[in-house]
Amino acid sequence: MARIGFIGLGIMGSPMAANLVKAGHEVHGSDHHAENMDKLAKAGGIPAASVAEAVTGADVVVTMLPDSPQVSEVALGLGGIFDTVRASGRPGVLYIDFSTISPHTSRQIAEVGAQAGVRVLDAPVSGGEAGAIAGTLSVMVGGAEADFDAAVPVLSAVGATIARVGPHGSGQVVKAANQLVVGGIYALVSEAIVLMEGSGVEAGPGLDVLAGGLAGSRILDLKRETMLAREFKPGFRIELHDKDMGIAIATARDAGVALPVTGLVAQLMAAAKARGDGKLDHSALLRTIEALSGRADG
Ligand code: NAD
Repeated sequence: MARIGFIGLGIMGSPMAANLVKAGHEVHGSDHHAENMDKLAKAGGIPAASVAEAVTGADVVVTMLPDSPQVSEVALGLGGIFDTVRASGRPGVLYIDFSTISPHTSRQIAEVGAQAGVRVLDAPVSGGEAGAIAGTLSVMVGGAEADFDAAVPVLSAVGATIARVGPHGSGQVVKAANQLVVGGIYALVSEAIVLMEGSGVEAGPGLDVLAGGLAGSRILDLKRETMLAREFKPGFRIELHDKDMGIAIATARDAGVALPVTGLVAQLMAAAKARGDGKLDHSALLRTIEALSGRADG
């Protein structure tokens, strides 16, 4: 069993850390918010006063942070992961970044990590808070095959579908593909609701039929009831999905490909954030789609 330093104990990180403890690992965690540290202690983990304290003596370090700037700061900054590993003189530490960030940043971090003697994997996840609690996340991993193999005992404590998808940055590219699909489906489910309600047709039974046919999806299965009830407690916040649509657009630009539907959905997500819905669940995209038609709930 490994000694794990875990940085970022938010909506996702907190239940993932709890599952690592359950699997028998010794988890030393760090987060900006005191209540997240209390949750870790209740789950059997050990709160650390700083990133350096969580990382010192760890075999494996993981991060579950909001975006590229936070991951760069925690990995590359003074008193950060690489700094601490360098100072400890313990090469061979495995660093798994579960955050969704730009593939470009993941590649940069892997390069600097190699110079510090740290084996780096980008390992973004899909499956939401429910998947994090159940330990059934999908994990898409970029990095060296031997490092992936070494990470499997940790990955299998948080995920059910675990795949190495290519070299450094590849996990983030697959995650960007995941996010553009999820965003697009939310936009279309929202339009289906607006169409039915705007036509005087009850949307509940309508969506039930859609869910059983070719238009069925996990999103319809898991989210149609809360969307119809206009319950938008996060889950996955609009502001984070807005970040992910930006990653998808930038990655497409780097690859020299055009993603026209993604461009449209990215603008809708940006509008949802600009309208003040950034802290709501991403299913609240419905409110922006409704507003376009002047409907009351928007
Ligand atoms: P969150 O905001 O709930 O959690 C992030 C945590 O990081 C916060 O608790 C914050 O205090 C902490 N943090 C930030 N900077 C820090 C630092 N320098 N040191 C220590 N702690 C720091 O976000 P989340 O929903 O858990 O998402 C985390 C990542 O996972 C994001 O990249 C997101 O896109 C991705 N993700 C989220 C979901 C979801 O459903 N919420 C699903 C899949 C992937």
